[in-house]
Amino acid sequence: MSEQIERIKTLIIGSGPAGYTAAIYAARADLKPVVYTGMEPGGQLTTTTEVDNFPGYPEGIDGPTMMVQLQQQAERFGTDVRIGMVTAVEFSDEVGGIHKATIDNDKVVEAETVIISTGASAKYLNIPSEQRLRGGGVSACAVCDGFFYKGQDVAIVGGGDTAAEEASYLANICNKVTMLIRKDYMRASKAMQHRVNNLSNIEIRYNTEVDEVLGDQVVEGLRLVNNKTGEKEEITVTGLFIAIGHTPNTGIFKGQLDMDETGYIITKGKSTKTNKPGVFASGDAQDKEYRQAVTAAGTGCMAALDAERYLATVETPEEVS
Ligand code: NDP
Repeated sequence: MSEQIERIKTLIIGSGPAGYTAAIYAARADLKPVVYTGMEPGGQLTTTTEVDNFPGYPEGIDGPTMMVQLQQQAERFGTDVRIGMVTAVEFSDEVGGIHKATIDNDKVVEAETVIISTGASAKYLNIPSEQRLRGGGVSACAVCDGFFYKGQDVAIVGGGDTAAEEASYLANICNKVTMLIRKDYMRASKAMQHRVNNLSNIEIRYNTEVDEVLGDQVVEGLRLVNNKTGEKEEITVTGLFIAIGHTPNTGIFKGQLDMDETGYIITKGKSTKTNKPGVFASGDAQDKEYRQAVTAAGTGCMAALDAERYLATVETPEEVS
């Protein structure tokens, strides 16, 4: 077992814009960071289309390309990027203490500092018929799965920027897109509302929720319910896209790190410090307010600077042989 334990200076958990930016800064500060990518290397941006709002890309850039470039930039300065999932952690309460992380339920890594950048995951409606048909026509990623519905009729749930962005993406591929919005208004920005309102093959239905997803093996339609009148109606679609927000991926830190009631990690003041010395949190795992690639990258940078300053002020115990 002992040869399975590796001691490192800085462990970065997660590989979105926060994780890779933390890695760029940590590597340049000689913290020899090791990034464990998690289940979705590159994070949420690998499931998006065009990123038009990240500074420095006047023509925009597609999400997966941007993430490959961020990884290459981190590796250029010596970041060790590893495919693997951190499945458990044991954070020390001591200043200068060693933190432990289990990788894929097997190998243990000991780290002097840890930067958490585990991001957030898509939410589902959690009705039984939706769960049963995940992978059979129900998807939370239009960019990943939209291609399979070329020329067909699909529906998308949600009224935020994600739903609006994905609806316009689907409108380019599909015959018709029905947007299902539970309120009588759309939460998306004015620019995104304008975009969906101007696409003739998008139908927007307000005050409408999914009562049931119809179909045995694959999606064949939806039973909708008007939440004002209670009136039900069936529509024929072959795909259902869910775009109703995200949950932070912080389950493995529960009980060790302070979190708010929805699971976002609480950081101290304007820093990325958590309640454990030497453990820092960045990106969507600690931010439910802004949730942008550029803000995630910014907090990744902050976490690396906080880790560097922390290491400069503590003496870490000798490695156990
Ligand atoms: P949001 O939380 O902004 O929106 C979620 C939407 O889903 C809301 O319309 C909400 O309805 C609806 N919803 C939530 N739960 C349910 C449910 N159970 N049934 C039906 N509808 C439901 O999430 P987004 O993912 O859209 O956006 C997250 C953040 O990312 C935002 O800050 C957004 O601005 C940003 N973003 C920016 C983009 C860009 O700038 N290019 C692109 C995508 C996202 P209700 O309003 O009733 O709560």
